[in-house]
Amino acid sequence: MKDPLHFNSLTIHGGQSPDKAYGAVMPPIYQTSTYAQTTPGGHKGFEYSRTHNPTRQALEQSLASIEAGTFGFAFGSGLAAMDAVLKLLKPGDEVISTDDLYGGSYRLFTKIFEDFGIQFHFVNMNDPKYIEAAINQNTRLVWVETPTNPMMNIIDIKAVSSLCKQHEILLAVDNTFASPYLQQPLVLGADIVMHSATKYLAGHSDVILGSLVTNDKGLAERIGFIQNASGAVPGPMDSFLTLRGIKTLHIRMQRHCENAAQIAAYLKNHPKIENVYWPGFEDHPNHEVAKSQMTDFGGMLSFVTKGANYESAIQIVEKLKLFTLAESLGGVESLAGHPASMTHASIPKEIREKSGVVDALIRLSVGIEDVRDLIADLEQAIG
Ligand SMILES: *Cc1c(COP(=O)(O)O)cnc(C)c1O
Repeated sequence: MKDPLHFNSLTIHGGQSPDKAYGAVMPPIYQTSTYAQTTPGGHKGFEYSRTHNPTRQALEQSLASIEAGTFGFAFGSGLAAMDAVLKLLKPGDEVISTDDLYGGSYRLFTKIFEDFGIQFHFVNMNDPKYIEAAINQNTRLVWVETPTNPMMNIIDIKAVSSLCKQHEILLAVDNTFASPYLQQPLVLGADIVMHSATKYLAGHSDVILGSLVTNDKGLAERIGFIQNASGAVPGPMDSFLTLRGIKTLHIRMQRHCENAAQIAAYLKNHPKIENVYWPGFEDHPNHEVAKSQMTDFGGMLSFVTKGANYESAIQIVEKLKLFTLAESLGGVESLAGHPASMTHASIPKEIREKSGVVDALIRLSVGIEDVRDLIADLEQAIG
């Protein structure tokens, strides 16, 4: 049975209880690799920290709770979490993935798992019929990332889920950009939800961590087995930091969304701007889907200035002062990035440009500073 609390309470209390030893309200950082046994097998539920650790367990319970799931798993990074999902597959299996994808995910698929005999198809998921066209008897997994990075396309999770159910294919959703504050893929029919908790969940740009959540007991058993057998687990300190970040997820996300909406409007009206990609615009091609599956439009947006090229885009990001030029997103501070040379440099230019990631594109992760200062910074950089 699901926790009856509302989301803004679950971020703080979901799956949490005072520590059993001394009643500590915050889970202690159990910095230990092993646990004393009174007789072989005589322990209190913890034997070895790759398998279980109380701090990580507190985080895993929180992750499950905020994603409306039953079983949560924490990993050493977002990519380690994805790696665990791909290990559910076998040589000969095929995967259909979003074409506008986080660069590191694309690299994991094509540079690691293709060599293990798994085949990937990258398709435009604006319409489920393109997914359907790529399905064959070997298709085992559909991998969705929405909003997409960095083009801010929105994929209809419910529609993809009903297609997957019809063909008995697993559906995994990378929910990093939205966070569960905006959208809960399991509720929309996904089998697995994945996060780079490095981003909005931890929220302070001070930790690398990943997660998976599912409601399916069989899947949970297999993921738990892979988590322990492959061993890509986070340490207790990083688990603690992520758990602390989650406690303010709802108020951070609210401000991220408010600031991004104001910046999107500012850029759209700017005479030097060619295009702004943000799902909150009524003329965004997937605006209606965004409205139906998300509670707000998020803190990420991308834009292209008029007549811009590789060099002029780099000039703008170098001129920004309050926006830090950096990889990553989702922290309290605003970041700017140049996907073509940074996050998406590992995707070949022809493939990248097909989905709109042109050399002139600039991506913003809008933080929670005073939005007037952020707009003033953009004004001086764009000129
Ligand atoms: C950052 C990111 C990842 C990878 O996560 P790490 O924690 O860096 O391993 C995967 N998907 C998306 C959408 C991301 O932004």
